[in-house]
Amino acid sequence: MSDILAVAEHRRGDLRDVSFELVTAGRELADAADGDLHVAVIGGDVDGFADELNREGVDMVHTVSEGEEFNHDIYTQSVEALADEIDPELLVLPNTVNGLDYAPAVANALSLPLVTDAIDVEYGDEPAVTREMYGSKVETVVEVDADRVALTIRPGEWPPAEGTGDAEISQFDVDIDESAVRSTVTGYQEVGGGDVDITDADVLVSVGRGIEEEENIALVEALADTLGATLSSSRPIVDNGWLPKNRQVGQSGKVVTPDVYIAIGISGAVQHVAGMKGADTIVAINTDASAPIYDLADYGVADDLFDVVPALIEEFGGE
Ligand code: FAD
Repeated sequence: MSDILAVAEHRRGDLRDVSFELVTAGRELADAADGDLHVAVIGGDVDGFADELNREGVDMVHTVSEGEEFNHDIYTQSVEALADEIDPELLVLPNTVNGLDYAPAVANALSLPLVTDAIDVEYGDEPAVTREMYGSKVETVVEVDADRVALTIRPGEWPPAEGTGDAEISQFDVDIDESAVRSTVTGYQEVGGGDVDITDADVLVSVGRGIEEEENIALVEALADTLGATLSSSRPIVDNGWLPKNRQVGQSGKVVTPDVYIAIGISGAVQHVAGMKGADTIVAINTDASAPIYDLADYGVADDLFDVVPALIEEFGGE
């Protein structure tokens, strides 16, 4: 029997969506490995988080009451101790800023190979991990020549686990070596753009280079306001300094999985698509009917955004 250990992620009092996606991925792997799925949560409101993580398919939730927010050293020591105890075949971590911060340290401490940014995993004698390369132009399958592996999985690639499970919830005590805790979180400072987190939005109105000039962003912003949506963008908009970096969707921006993604004046370059292809419904507004965004759009309007966007604002009762 080969067990799986997934480590949840939380920020400022909330579990992040990727935590529930880790549960789905972890359950699939545990089924394939004929093992149990252990989920760990470290710091914050561990009891509340443990209840939330008790989703269908979870066999055990381990709570580690160390620290409030993410801390590299505490996470590394805690996951190392949990892995020593559980002896999992696969260690599944989120491919997020935090996950990528401590995953290499944990893999090093446990002498495990690490494969990052997995978009699919086949469990066999040796795990085969699918990941993208060359700016998402190529998919490769990494056959890992080892029994035990650490993985980070890309947010948005697995559906979030639903339902309430009957996992055993257990407190796990870690003897943290304080002398090795070299960093402390003293507070948060949001980057420009306020506290907007485009990864949390249900509806995103996303603007691209087709908008032509900075002053025209207000038009798309008005549509976002009318729809109660959040404004995001492709990279050129950020590179031009028209919107802050935390609004950028894509390979070098954020990976988003909203219910609805409205791409306005965005061509659909692979690096952009890497960040939004997990949206449930994709709407494209682009004059060029052969633009690659239409390859994945569910609905499209091949017309001038300067005509279409005001019409939509009017239709939905905006000003
Ligand atoms: P364009 O490709 O110029 O497309 C503009 C579109 O607007 C066109 O399709 C055009 O037909 C349409 N249009 C023009 N006028 C109108 C109009 N009046 N009405 C309607 N439609 C109109 N890009 C990202 O977005 N995110 C990333 O994270 C990212 N990371 C990258 C990482 C690397 C290493 C590299 C090399 C590139 C990265 N890029 C990223 C850049 C990416 O390759 C593209 O250049 C970028 O996505 C293009 O943005 P766009 O679609 O807004 O612009």
